[in-house]
Amino acid sequence: MRPEILYSLFRPITALKGVGPRIGALIERRTGPNLVHLLWHLPSGLIDRRHAPKITGALAGSVATITVRVDQHRKPPNKRMPYKVLCSDETGTLCLVYFHAHEDYLRKTLPEGETRVVSGQIEAFGDEIQMSHPDHVVQEADIASIMTIEPLYPLTTGLTMKVLSRAIDDALKDIPELPEWADAAYVTKQKWPSWRDAVLASHAPQGLRELEPSALARCRLAYDELLSNQIALAIIRKHMRRTKGRPLRGTGALVQRVTKTLPFDLTNAQKTAIGEIRDDLASDARMLRLLQGDVGSGKTLVAVMAMLTAVEAGAQAVLMAPTEILARQHLATVTPLAKAAGLQVAVLTGRERGKNRAAALEALVEGRAQIAVGTHALFQDEVEYKNLALAVIDEQHRFGVHQRLALAAKGDAVDTLVMTATPIPRTLMLTAYGDMDTSRLMEKPPGRKPVDTRVLPVERLEQIVDACNRALNAGDKVFWVCPLIEESEKLDVAAAEDRQAALASRFGDRVGLVHGRMKGPEKDKVMAAFVDGNVDILVATTVIEVGVDVPAATVMVIEHSERFGLAQLHQLRGRIGRGDKPATCLLMYGSPLTETARSRLSIMRKTDDGFVIAEEDLKLRGAGELLGTRQSGIPEFLLADLQIHADLLAAARDDAALILDKDPDLTSERGQAVRTLLYLFERDAAVKNLRSG
Ligand code: ADP
Ligand code: MG
Repeated sequence: MRPEILYSLFRPITALKGVGPRIGALIERRTGPNLVHLLWHLPSGLIDRRHAPKITGALAGSVATITVRVDQHRKPPNKRMPYKVLCSDETGTLCLVYFHAHEDYLRKTLPEGETRVVSGQIEAFGDEIQMSHPDHVVQEADIASIMTIEPLYPLTTGLTMKVLSRAIDDALKDIPELPEWADAAYVTKQKWPSWRDAVLASHAPQGLRELEPSALARCRLAYDELLSNQIALAIIRKHMRRTKGRPLRGTGALVQRVTKTLPFDLTNAQKTAIGEIRDDLASDARMLRLLQGDVGSGKTLVAVMAMLTAVEAGAQAVLMAPTEILARQHLATVTPLAKAAGLQVAVLTGRERGKNRAAALEALVEGRAQIAVGTHALFQDEVEYKNLALAVIDEQHRFGVHQRLALAAKGDAVDTLVMTATPIPRTLMLTAYGDMDTSRLMEKPPGRKPVDTRVLPVERLEQIVDACNRALNAGDKVFWVCPLIEESEKLDVAAAEDRQAALASRFGDRVGLVHGRMKGPEKDKVMAAFVDGNVDILVATTVIEVGVDVPAATVMVIEHSERFGLAQLHQLRGRIGRGDKPATCLLMYGSPLTETARSRLSIMRKTDDGFVIAEEDLKLRGAGELLGTRQSGIPEFLLADLQIHADLLAAARDDAALILDKDPDLTSERGQAVRTLLYLFERDAAVKNLRSG
């Protein structure tokens, strides 16, 4: 349960005075529903109102706070003209200008003959010194309340600075002092304020430098957020470990038999990974391992060997892919290998229905099928396994970390191996997975030649088509990718259909088309014709469609490549250059190119190394955007910026390990403080996994 000390922070925004449902909804849209979310909404700018000149000393364009006598209200002759209030001091006249004015209100706040302090931007209009719509009007006695440095907040349509600032101010008024969860010596060394003081200081910047993520107060808050992330991950991971696994000791017989049938040798990286996984399976701790490797590094084969080991030990294993097409591709890889081992494979995706589905379910529950390949359908309620012991998840960043953990928790003592194709920079790995055990396939199978990558403007289409023609004459195949236009799938499809038609006018029915709106079997037919049939150019709308292995493909054309992210481009390019012929990737772009797009394409031209590309991607795009989608499973942070706070992440990881090592159930005084931290950052689920939650 949430500690009492946090109750006030988790009240809804509408609990604030003057914030009703309408304004509450507006603010919530920008910040989140509770008062605590207002605290996380940090200023992005500031206005210095400490400049208090006399009227004639006020410079046009500057912000000034001026004490004036209100002389005269001037109502305009018609509504289109502004309402004016003339004011003065001993040096001159200041004209306050209001459009769409409410006279009653103005007469009340600016009574003629009285003295007021106004603050806002000074403008010169001919000879006249003006201030239109002053930001503040107060009594002389209250001048100190506005002669300050005022924070400016990111807004949203319909939400004004005044309203949001007031709400945040009010939320800051009675925030509690929380017990210290960070290491006292570390806090002193960093010269950090307490959590409460850090929040207050972040909302009261005294200069531009205090708006930077590197400001002390902001660093403190970033650390707190990262610490909560790292502790939460460590707890969940530990909880999973605590459920004992069961030792799966393979005999090596099936692995050996299948290895002999391969037309190539395993790479050293593959052998190492297979060994690591074999050791994990044999131990009675539960396996939670990440198999990371660049596109084409041979992860699937490693996964198959892991599954064979589980089967040798008398158990069942599943391989789950995020999409139908990828599941089919895995099936194509697994089937011949399983056959060589004398095993039966069951398939379960959204497409298996009726008799086929019933047969698969029966084979799994009776244990006749030792291996299952499929999509989420593998873990639906009705699916029962006789003896499931290993789940391999090819996540491709489509399953979030929570989904994945939930899934692993579903089976009893199931060992989990997660395959990820896009190399994730180390910093991001830590935030998404914590310190998960990792096997990396850094080495690619021998004989792979780097893909020749060229960047070309769309105007050179004809040349590109000629290049395709040469490839076809040499008996090769061509991928032609059309980009995703976000606003409309219909438009994508139309663009791809146009492209297919244009290419078909030259190449006839050797041009196939797959897109997201086609039905499964229809897609399969085209894909099959591309893999080993009469389709030689495959036009595709999305990345997923081309997630297949076609060794004869030597050319990859990507239209509007400037619209793709680096990771996507790298994935796509990884689809070619798998055979023994040299391969070419043609990145077409439409002008003008943005600076970022230009950098992206130039990185693609320069390197083929997925890790380098991922690091560059992180630099260009920032962590939240990396890997393209919110489904990536990489958490987004409110306060931490992984590019700037990378050292804090490392510290948070070490501290999390230390804290849980000393006090695994968070029962000590500091442990209680850490629990408060977890609730503060809404990692409630993690706390529930503590033994004494
Ligand atoms: P990934 O899943 O890592 O992208 P795959 O497992 O799909 O890579 O393998 C890509 C291709 O490389 C497949 O055609 C596979 O048969 C082949 N392959 C895998 N391991 C080796 C190896 N050791 N030597 C040569 N080719 C290999
Ligand atoms: Mg693969």
